[in-house]
Amino acid sequence: MKLKDPFFHSFYEENTPTRSFEFFPPKDNAGLARLCQTVEALKPLNPSFVSVTYGAGGSTQTQTSRIASLLRNDYKLPVMPHLTCVGASKDSLCSHLDQTYQAGYRNIMALRGDPPKGQNIFTQHREGLRYGSDLVALIKDRYPDICIGVGGYPEKHPEASSADKDLEHLKIKVEAGASFIITQLFFDNTVYFRFIDRCRRSGITIPIVPGIMPILSREQILRFTQTCGATIPTPLLNQLELADGDDLAMEEIGVTWAGQQIDELLKCGVPGYHLYILNKARSALALANILKENTEPITRAQSLAI
Ligand SMILES: Cc1cc2nc3c(=O)[nH]c(=O)nc-3n(C[C@H](O)[C@H](O)[C@H](O)COP(=O)(O)OP(=O)(O)OC[C@H]3O[C@@H](n4cnc5c(N)ncnc54)[C@H](O)[C@@H]3O)c2cc1C
Repeated sequence: MKLKDPFFHSFYEENTPTRSFEFFPPKDNAGLARLCQTVEALKPLNPSFVSVTYGAGGSTQTQTSRIASLLRNDYKLPVMPHLTCVGASKDSLCSHLDQTYQAGYRNIMALRGDPPKGQNIFTQHREGLRYGSDLVALIKDRYPDICIGVGGYPEKHPEASSADKDLEHLKIKVEAGASFIITQLFFDNTVYFRFIDRCRRSGITIPIVPGIMPILSREQILRFTQTCGATIPTPLLNQLELADGDDLAMEEIGVTWAGQQIDELLKCGVPGYHLYILNKARSALALANILKENTEPITRAQSLAI
């Protein structure tokens, strides 16, 4: 009999904050070695679960499954594969879902997806789905017991006409059957706290897990600000500018900032944190060291419990 994962939403009901890490499927053997080093570096943090992205443009379906199964079977980690609507008909999404379910996965991160490289606009497959909420509904219809995570955007999704509209759409996604939200990366915790406040006022009650990514290079900063619209706070920007040209110093600044963000979030009672670790072993190790020091069990009951 295939191993079955627990339902991850139950983790958020516990008092101990979760630690989840996001990996992407590597393109070659060197990338696979880097991924394995990163997983090893993070293992001492005892991840609650890990997730595996689904390539932009839906390009890595088999790779996502391969890496999910590696993390599950070789590293004995609970895994949440991502799934997107890009380039897929409803039929192919259903058959992928069937395989995922039969393999024992019970948690899926459901997303609309980003367009393939070189394209700016999401184009719906002619027999496919338009929004993340459509994918949530499809999954719930076929497998009501699957626990679904969805994306949330503290600084608004770049395509949304307004933050209020984006929140309305997030609510539709939650009502379609999502069990928890993982946010887009942000560098200023006040942005996350404001988002929580707006979500709660709009009636969204499910856990909202902060997504954190350490900045590792100047190119990354440009990519973030251009693609996902994340604001970089001036103090962080100033530090990064001073370190320009020194990759190691930049990485240290990014990792320290992420560690401080997580520390503050945990003290405020977040349900956990989700780390976009980018398969980078060195920064994972550095961050793991900071987090080991900073994550002495804070029980959520002692704190604000967001
Ligand atoms: C935690 C996390 C993990 C991610 N993992 C991946 C991954 O593995 N692979 C990948 O390709 N991408 C990934 N992404 C990126 C994500 O696919 C993109 O941000 C994508 O542009 C939006 O996906 P979504 O499901 O959040 O979008 P949706 O919820 O569909 O929203 C997309 C846009 O449509 C609008 N909208 C939603 N519903 C409606 C409606 N009913 N009517 C009108 N407008 C509507 C929203 O306001 C928004 O502007 C991830 C993002 C996050 C936060």
